[in-house]
Amino acid sequence: MRALLFCISGPSGVGKGTLVRELLKIEPELALSISCTTRAPRPGEREGVEYFFTTREAFEKGIAAGEFIEYDDHFGNYYGTPKKYVFDEMAKGRSVILEIDVVGALIVKRDYGEKVINILIVPPSEEALDARLKGRGSESAEQIALRKKRVEYELSKAKEYDYVVVNDDLMRATYELRDIFRKEINL
Ligand code: ADP
Ligand code: 5GP
Repeated sequence: MRALLFCISGPSGVGKGTLVRELLKIEPELALSISCTTRAPRPGEREGVEYFFTTREAFEKGIAAGEFIEYDDHFGNYYGTPKKYVFDEMAKGRSVILEIDVVGALIVKRDYGEKVINILIVPPSEEALDARLKGRGSESAEQIALRKKRVEYELSKAKEYDYVVVNDDLMRATYELRDIFRKEINL
């Protein structure tokens, strides 16, 4: 069995967080990396659960100290993957999920090559993505506009991904992800 890094990317609001939660319920062997971010917590988000929330100053110190596998500056904030947890889990033989943006996923692929499986989650339609982003009700109109602007760029990178999964029906897509995971760790 291989310990791999599964990068899950895709447009904001496509359902990455929801899918990953469902996948972890049926695949408890997978570990989930918690990213650091300088954005403010949304209502209901908890420190160390959705993210480690931090300041720009502390984040930049972490960059200088080489604490991140990758990081990116988007939507006006830093987001990055702390190294330690990921490497500790892989040393124990566990595969790790990184829910990170397209730029981050391609950096991880460049740096860790064969150990990385990149999966792009796409919406069944543009309308469905719009409805999910608005329906989540967690961002301002301005933040939604920023996130929508990036969609085209993210989807344009599809050919650089190992897998593209359409999040149409939540459970169908969850089981497709589980099949990919099982196939890859056993190769
Ligand atoms: P992301 O993590 O990609 O930004 P979320 O997981 O927060 O997206 O999902 C955005 C919204 O879409 C949430 O309100 C979620 O309940 C909803 N959602 C997720 N997957 C589906 C699906 N397959 N069908 C309908 N709604 C979905
Ligand atoms: P949100 O603010 O909606 O939680 O996340 C915005 C975007 O940041 C999403 O595309 C998400 O995947 C991405 N993201 C979250 N954590 C990381 C990370 O550690 N690194 C990178 N590069 N992107 C991240």
